[in-house]
This record gives sequence, C-alpha cells and structure tokens, in this order.
Amino acid sequence: MTRTTLRLSAVDDQYDAPIVGRVVLVLGDEPVEIELVVPEGKVAFEDALPVLQKLTDFIVDREADVAETSGRTVSCRAGCGACCRQLVPISQAEARALVRLVAAMPDPRRSRVRRRFEAALKAFDASGLLADIDAARESESGVVGDLGMRYFRQSIACPFLEDESCSIHPDRPLTCRQYLVTSPSSNCQNPSPATIETVPLPVKPSQALLVADTLDSNVAWMPLIYALTFDEQVPPQPPTRTAPDILRDVFLRLAGAGGQPGEVAIKE
Ligand code: SF4
Repeated sequence: MTRTTLRLSAVDDQYDAPIVGRVVLVLGDEPVEIELVVPEGKVAFEDALPVLQKLTDFIVDREADVAETSGRTVSCRAGCGACCRQLVPISQAEARALVRLVAAMPDPRRSRVRRRFEAALKAFDASGLLADIDAARESESGVVGDLGMRYFRQSIACPFLEDESCSIHPDRPLTCRQYLVTSPSSNCQNPSPATIETVPLPVKPSQALLVADTLDSNVAWMPLIYALTFDEQVPPQPPTRTAPDILRDVFLRLAGAGGQPGEVAIKE
C-alpha cells in the first residue's frame, strides 16, 4: 500500500527549516507519514498549534471525500453560520492563540470583536448558563450533558461570526474545523441527533489537544467566549517545553483515541 506523506509546519519558511520528527498515523487502513517542521527551542503550546490545525484539515478533507464518494454531499458553505451558535470547547493554547489573533487585528475591527465577546459573556451570564458551564468544567467527568442544546437555544452568535461566515476561518479552533454535516443545512437551525448527520472522523485532534494541553496546568476545556478573559485571569507563563515534546503528547493521545500510530518518532 502506498503511503501518503504530509508535511505539517508551524514555521513560515518551512522549506528551509529542518524536519524534526516523523509520525506514521494509520487512518482507517491508510498509513499517513507525517513530517513535522516546528520552531526550535522552548515554545508556548500555541506555537505548535499550526501543525494540529493542518492535521485536522487533512483528516476532515479526507473524510469529506469519503462521504462524497459514497453519495453524501457536505452541506456546509460560507454564509451558513447556523452552527456558529453552538458551544465550542477550546483548549487554553487555542484561547491564547485567539488572544494573539485579536490583539493583532487593526482597529476598529479589534474593538468590535472585543465588544462582541463582552456582550456574549454578559448575555450567557444573565441566562445562568455560565455557572452551569463552570460546574461542568470543574466536575471530574467534565460532562456537558444538555448544556450544548441550552447554549444553542440562546441563539447568540460566536463573536467571530460576520455576515454568517467565520471571519477567522484560517485560524478557527479545531472543534470548528471538525464539524461538517451531510444533512440538509436547514436542519442546522434546530439541530438534534435525529436530524443532523455529521461527517464521522476516525480521530478528533481537538480531543487529543484538550487532554495534552491540561497536563501541566489542570486548566480544563473552556467555551470559546472565555478566550479573551481567560488570558487576563491566567497570564501566560514562560515556555518550558519544546515543540517536539508538546506534539509527542498530542500524537500519543491521538493514537490512544484510535489513530493506530505505526511509529511515533519525534526527536528534540
Ligand atoms: S470560530 Fe468561526 S467557525 Fe468557529 S464558531 Fe466562531 S465563527 Fe464559527
């Protein structure tokens, strides 16, 4: 069987930078050889995030092709932002990456986005949902229960949604990347397990990231709308790990979730 080779880079000049590791991930029955190109030295977790974003896009595109080949059409399109009113769990690395992204936006866009975050937090707080979300985050199981549906019913758009499209599409969280539906898009206005058919994924990098990202800090998942305030409440610490070290943790958890790694060889 031929192996697909995928180069995942977290640096801009990827063709001048050395490959620091190779991972073979078996997806279904296809071995995928992954070459990793990452920044040198100790880095913040979010500096390794581009690798996981590109890996997620690869897995999702692959499974969308499988769905289309079997006659199911992906309904998701730019301009349909129904799912962008759902509870989006993110890791602390993703929160810090979003903080950087918003800080780099020119004004007045930056101020506009910040105001939307404040308004969303205020509205969810008034509904009593934030207290329930915090209780779920602090519980041992972290189980969300019916929170997702209650959150969606508030019909409060993600602060990054503009004209019903994601305004940060290349930088959106892994959870958003993983969500594609083949059921009619009209069903997304009132979603339920009976009416929504998603593209199934063999592994979910978002879940591996959430586990790996809590190892050092005990900070659980958080809803996307916490991103900007989280960074104020828990200021970032100086980095203690290298990118290969961080990615090894994520890939091992991905394998534990069914990714069947042939080999995980990441040097430091
Ligand atoms: S980040 Fe983008 S894709 Fe994700 S919920 Fe927000 S607007 Fe939608």
